[in-house]
Amino acid sequence: MASNLYSMTEFLPTKYHLQSLCCGASYPDTNWELQCPQLHQPSLIRAIYDVRQLKVHAGNPGLYKFSDWLPIERVLEGSGAPVTYKSEGLSKLLGLDQLYITFNGYWPERGAFMKSGTFKECEAYSVCARKNSSNGTMVVASAGNTARAFARVCSQNKIPLLLTIPLDNIGALWFDHPLDPCVRIIACESGGDYFDAIYLSNLAVELEGFYPEGGAKNVARRDGMGTTVLSAVTTIGKIPDYYFQAIGSGTGAIAAWEANLRFLEDGRFGSNKMKLMLSQNAPFLPIKEAWDLRSPAMLPIDDGMARKQVTEINAKVLSNRKPPYGLKGGLYDALMDAGGTILAATNQEAGKAAELFLKYEGNDVEPAAAVAVASLIKAVEENLVEKNGVIMLNITGGGLEKFKKENNINYQAPEKIFALDADPLATKREIAGMFR
Ligand SMILES: [Zn+2]
Repeated sequence: MASNLYSMTEFLPTKYHLQSLCCGASYPDTNWELQCPQLHQPSLIRAIYDVRQLKVHAGNPGLYKFSDWLPIERVLEGSGAPVTYKSEGLSKLLGLDQLYITFNGYWPERGAFMKSGTFKECEAYSVCARKNSSNGTMVVASAGNTARAFARVCSQNKIPLLLTIPLDNIGALWFDHPLDPCVRIIACESGGDYFDAIYLSNLAVELEGFYPEGGAKNVARRDGMGTTVLSAVTTIGKIPDYYFQAIGSGTGAIAAWEANLRFLEDGRFGSNKMKLMLSQNAPFLPIKEAWDLRSPAMLPIDDGMARKQVTEINAKVLSNRKPPYGLKGGLYDALMDAGGTILAATNQEAGKAAELFLKYEGNDVEPAAAVAVASLIKAVEENLVEKNGVIMLNITGGGLEKFKKENNINYQAPEKIFALDADPLATKREIAGMFR
């Protein structure tokens, strides 16, 4: 125990370097790199860790027990970690022998303490602890849950942050504490979606003093999400056969695949790759439509149609129109390498699945996680999984209703709302004006 406590007070920065998937170049993480410094073809970069065999540092707080495989130089206050347990209720219902649930959210009885309720907290606590996080204001675009997670971490640790979010998703911004003034929020008007929020964030980062968080391109974000798999594999003792998750951008699935590759090098947990059993909320299915045709690029999307479909889905966080799909090391590569499929679930199917989860496992799940549960049910019905296989169900958010019931919640309004057809220069001037 003493050595654990010691490691908590004496946290040493993780040893790692970065590597481009386009050309294989290796370099130190000195400049908040989000892409190959040679500016080659669109490609992800990866963190390569000195420690090849993962040790769980139980003395580190929250998420940071997985610091061996996180590109970080410090630990922050207030994080929770994913919790993996063997299902009894749902597994019996579905006739599965080895269903493991990795729960991200709020469930103190199971040791889950993510107070913003979703695995976006894994990203936020990892990104904000990354080496060389620049001086200036970090800009994050979000469909909702990511915004809540980053707002929480940055407020708690006094990290300057500008959030851009669709006004239609503003209900996702609830907190149990008032936000520190270092967190600022702007929105695109009603009718706009995640992509419109990204457009706003792109304008902001053109201003001096702002830098992009980077989304899927940020190694800290992906490896933070990958801790769900680190939790599962270290709990189960082996790499699962199947990985179930609902996807918006698919970044979580890429991260899961990358964590899997690290475990292959680790060597102690098997030599298989998890089949990626991913799901989207019908009728918004752009990634499914591309993958079903095995198209290495996203298909052309009609923006008006996409916005309309997004208004129809309950899982608003699954509404990314420009996912990191076709770039090197992206979702297409992950699916080609690991194998898998993309399923669809309607609002109704997801709603039913959420009821079953509450009844048989004992906690509420948010709409995106409900889509994943629905897709698991469907996969079992359609014999897409072997019933004695090791299945990991990534519950990406849950216990939100429980947390809201047990705590005093305040909603946060945006400081400014921008029209979808606003003049870009005027928009930039207004954003700059907020920080004067
Ligand atoms: Zn390169």
